[in-house]
Amino acid sequence: MEFQNRKEPSLSEIDVAHHLHPFANTKEYREQGVRVITGGDGVYVIDSSGRRYLDAFAGLWCVNVGYGRREIADAVHAQMISLAYYNTFFGTTTEPTARLAERIVKLAGPDMSHVFFTNSGSEANDTWLRMARLYWTSKGMPNRKIVISRQNSYHGSTIAGASLGGMRHMHEQGDLPIPGIVHIGQPYWYAEGGGLMPDQFGILRARELEEKILELGPENVAAFVAEPVQGTGGVIVPPETYWPEILRICRKYDILLAVDEVITGFGRTGSWFGYQHYGLRPDFCSVAKGLSSGYQPIAAVIVSGRVADAMAHEGGVFQHGFTYSGHPCAAAAALANLNILEREDLVGKIQRDLGPYFAKALHSLNDLAIVGETQAIGLLGSVQLVLDKNKRLRFSKPSDIGMIVRNFCMERDLIVRASQDRILLAPAFVITHEQIDTIIATLRAVLIEIVAALS
Ligand SMILES: *Cc1c(COP(=O)(O)O)cnc(C)c1O
Repeated sequence: MEFQNRKEPSLSEIDVAHHLHPFANTKEYREQGVRVITGGDGVYVIDSSGRRYLDAFAGLWCVNVGYGRREIADAVHAQMISLAYYNTFFGTTTEPTARLAERIVKLAGPDMSHVFFTNSGSEANDTWLRMARLYWTSKGMPNRKIVISRQNSYHGSTIAGASLGGMRHMHEQGDLPIPGIVHIGQPYWYAEGGGLMPDQFGILRARELEEKILELGPENVAAFVAEPVQGTGGVIVPPETYWPEILRICRKYDILLAVDEVITGFGRTGSWFGYQHYGLRPDFCSVAKGLSSGYQPIAAVIVSGRVADAMAHEGGVFQHGFTYSGHPCAAAAALANLNILEREDLVGKIQRDLGPYFAKALHSLNDLAIVGETQAIGLLGSVQLVLDKNKRLRFSKPSDIGMIVRNFCMERDLIVRASQDRILLAPAFVITHEQIDTIIATLRAVLIEIVAALS
């Protein structure tokens, strides 16, 4: 009898009973349950209670062409029927994999020549780290092993990815970083610029790279890695002076430049790649999220001609790869995604129309006392929350001010992300002016409500 009366467990109950979640507070979601997302259409997602949210974060800044694209589903379906899987080890390939590599290199520009496929952005970063060391070995400089990265950068969750990343809370879990990876300061003017003008601060932070290279000895440094615009760290757009100075230093000491474009790749900044926006000439470019708009897990390192040639001259086997490197179904999804981006000129639209409209709307929040600064590039945006705008004083209490804002937005059917005291926005490229207005109006109402509640 008792058994018959027992209610069927909900999906949330089943989930928390058996599923360990990434980047989530395990105790908290066990108590509170999880949200079950059941559908998506354009810039909207729907949960199991039928509630519809405007997703101003495109999943995890990846569903760039929007939810519900049948064309991508059809491409994957067709590929699964003709050839569900074959590997790319030992000198074999499949048609979508070869075509995708060619397509990516064309978009990447003349300095780039080859693509190494992985399943995630983290693995892409692990991959170029090994390639960079192989490159210097092939050049007769095997001591060039150290990679310089930046504090508060995000490069993924594998051991190498989390080590390359500069997130202190990630390093604390598991004795990271691993040897051979060091960090310099980030170009986060609002928090760390003190009395300097942003342009002065940009130069100062770039020069930390030169100081670090000299301290380590250039003969020991393999590469410098950075996101063109820091993503998870807070959508931090560096001062204008930063990248030209970094470029000068990399060239002077012949350091390989790795750009982590897992977020910025494939159009988010209004250029196909962030390095094109900033005029950089990297040797490695990690891509993932935007490559398939999240429809399939696929990622890659785009590699410069000089590195690819060195690998060929080196001879021998590159002792690295993943069972699903260049998976044909994931490659088919990525090709269909690129077809959509090109046919609908979504990157051009960000450059000409959506980006400027989004920036103007976001900057309109600057009249609020709780908003310290807003930053926007293409369809990436951030709002710096601040306790005292005139003194540039950040919140210490409540320390989870960003999460509070995020949760209030959720109550109003708007999904944004928080990174400490910054609110991050990254909507799909199919967002309309009206939907951008809705995002900004909702954020404004939430911020006003929170200020009233705090005082
Ligand atoms: C998301 C992200 C990664 C990690 O990608 P995964 O596919 O989650 O491994 C790496 N770098 C940056 C900049 C990212 O935003």
